[in-house]
Amino acid sequence: MSATLDYDALVRMLQSAAQEIRDNHETLSKLDSVGGDGDHGSTMVRAMARLEDAVKGCATATVKTLLYDVGWAILGVDGGATGPLLGALFMAMSDAAGASEALDVDGLAAMFEAGLEGVLRQTKAKPGDKTMVDALTPAVQALRQAADEGAAVAEMLKRAAEAAHAGAAATADMQARFGRAKNIKEQSIGHQDPGATSVAFLFRGFSKGLETDA
Ligand code: ADP
Ligand code: MG
Repeated sequence: MSATLDYDALVRMLQSAAQEIRDNHETLSKLDSVGGDGDHGSTMVRAMARLEDAVKGCATATVKTLLYDVGWAILGVDGGATGPLLGALFMAMSDAAGASEALDVDGLAAMFEAGLEGVLRQTKAKPGDKTMVDALTPAVQALRQAADEGAAVAEMLKRAAEAAHAGAAATADMQARFGRAKNIKEQSIGHQDPGATSVAFLFRGFSKGLETDA
C-alpha cells in the first residue's frame, strides 16, 4: 500500500488506461453514434496511441514532464472535442504536479483538481449538461474525499473510478447541452454520454494500473 505516486506508478496508470480504452472503443463509438458522429472510440484510441508514444519517449522521467508530454500529445489529436478537453486535463495536471519525485495523497488530489479546472477553462459545461465533466467532477471529488480520509493512493483511484462510473451512468438520464449531441435535444436522453463514459474507462484503467500496489 503506497501513500505516494511516483513516476513508475504513473506510467502503469497511463498504460492501463490506454488498454482500457482499446478494450472498450466499440462501446464509445456506438454511444457517439446516437447523437454525434460515431468517432469517439476511434478518436480515443488515437489519443491513447499518442499517450503511449509520449510515455515511451519521455526523456526526463518525472511526473510533471510525463504529464506535460502526454497532454501535449493528446492536444494534437484531430477529431473535434476530445483533443482539447483531454489535453487540457493532463496539461493542467502537469502544471500542478510540482518538481518532486513523488506526490503524496494531498498533492495527488490537488493535481486532479487542477486538471478538472483546466478542463473547465476549455468549456462552459457544468455537471448535468451530459458531457465528460459529469464523470470527471465526481471522480475528482472522490479523490479529495479519499485523501482527506487518509486513503492510500490505490484506494483513492479505486474510489475515483467508482465515482466516475456512477457519474457516467447518470448521464443516461440527462439531455445534452454541449457538443454535437445537443442537436438531437431530448432524443439524447436514454443513452450515456460517450465522453463521460471514456472518462470512466480512463479512471478504471488508472485504478487497475495500481492494483498491484493495493
Ligand atoms: P466530437 O463531438 O467533436 O466528434 P468526440 O466524439 O471525440 O468529439 O467526443 C464527444 C464527447 O466530447 C461528448 O460525449 C462530450 O462528453 C464531450 N464534449 C463535446 N463537446 C463538449 C463541450 N463543449 N464541453 C464539454 N464536453 C464536450
Ligand atoms: Mg464524435
